[in-house]
Amino acid sequence: MPKFQAPRGTRDLLPSDMAVYRGLETLGRRLAAIYGYQPIETPLFEDSAVFERGIGEATDVVEKELFRIKSPGSGDERWALRPEPTAGICRAYVEHGMHTLPQPVRLTTFGPMFRYDRPQAGRYRQFWQFDVEVIGDPGPAVDAEVIELALRYVRDAGVANVELHLNSIGDGACRPAYVAALVEYMSGHAKDLPDLERRRLAANPLRLLDTKDARTQAVLEGAPTIDSYLCPACRDHFDSLLAHLARLGIEPRRAPRLVRGLDYYTRTAFELYQRGAEGQQSALGGGGRYDGLIELFGARPTPAIGFGLGIDRIAGALAAAEKAPTMYPVAVVVGADPSATDLRLKLATDLRAAGIAASAELAPRKLGRQLEGAARDGAHFAIVVGDELDAGQVQLRDLEAGTQRVVNVADLVRELERAHASHRHGEAR
Ligand code: AMP
Repeated sequence: MPKFQAPRGTRDLLPSDMAVYRGLETLGRRLAAIYGYQPIETPLFEDSAVFERGIGEATDVVEKELFRIKSPGSGDERWALRPEPTAGICRAYVEHGMHTLPQPVRLTTFGPMFRYDRPQAGRYRQFWQFDVEVIGDPGPAVDAEVIELALRYVRDAGVANVELHLNSIGDGACRPAYVAALVEYMSGHAKDLPDLERRRLAANPLRLLDTKDARTQAVLEGAPTIDSYLCPACRDHFDSLLAHLARLGIEPRRAPRLVRGLDYYTRTAFELYQRGAEGQQSALGGGGRYDGLIELFGARPTPAIGFGLGIDRIAGALAAAEKAPTMYPVAVVVGADPSATDLRLKLATDLRAAGIAASAELAPRKLGRQLEGAARDGAHFAIVVGDELDAGQVQLRDLEAGTQRVVNVADLVRELERAHASHRHGEAR
């Protein structure tokens, strides 16, 4: 057992993992750009109050899972590592007066989040999210756009059988009546609830709906759902969202108990699951509308919607399906003269300068061993440097087809690009 290990609930992302993570990050950045989102980075830690206010004190995330940081000077726990990105982004929106920009403002980020949760499969203390936020549009069309982007992301990532769970959780006008009905029902079953859930019933009853406790879940089976309590405005918003989704060919599964773990959500709430893998630990991501959050940071009320997709969960789903992408070079430069490493290095450097994913065999070993190495790296081509180089030529060996031909060095980039286009080597696939 080595003396030091990564802290409990965290893990090293080794090069073999990073191929997947980088691929998912690149996909996020590419899709976000296509959909018109601007990148933003906020600090990994904030004033704890940003999360306490923005997420809600009676939530798991704040109550139990916030990674608080002692400040070295005073020793008080003024800061906390971010458990999710929305609160920090909204703090930044208000701080930098982004309400003066053309609305809505579309922002995206990708990075690590921290929750002091009990580690288990798919639940880490440091995990990654791809996140988008649209601030300044009340929807419902933009809600459909955001949901379609989330679905598109997980599908393009290669996850099969993705299912959208969708609910409306109402707003300040209609939710109180629903909460009252829920409290009345749950209070009648208080003796069946564990202490924590009973406290929640008093502090933040909606949170009961996403309880992880089996006994509470059983009680919830008979609880009223928000559906019949939605006010006309929330009902219209939800119906219109469904119509917009239908237009995009998206059929959600209605999830009347889906509330999302965070307090600031209004109306639209959604989560993505891989069909057959539903359950608390298996949400690939989720999001929703949070029309009440921006004003908590001192700005005028501003509607907004966003999502956070769990990169670790998506990577896990890909690994389970053995779809994890790996990095392969297009070409490996090998040579007949084991000691001519300078020629091989120069040629690989030139290819890389031209944008080709190339590497060189730099160990002075026999050609046969070099070719074995190239095949092991998953390269499509070996470029064999030999006597022809004096005439400006090399051998281009197609390692998959087993063929070989002489090519002018001057034509090499074009030849390799053509193969790259048809085989998509050199990148996550
Ligand atoms: P949440 O803000 O809790 O809805 O989280 C959004 C998504 O992030 C979830 O659907 C998960 O995919 C992922 N996620 C949340 N917490 C964790 C965690 N502790 N470890 C790994 N992924 C997580």
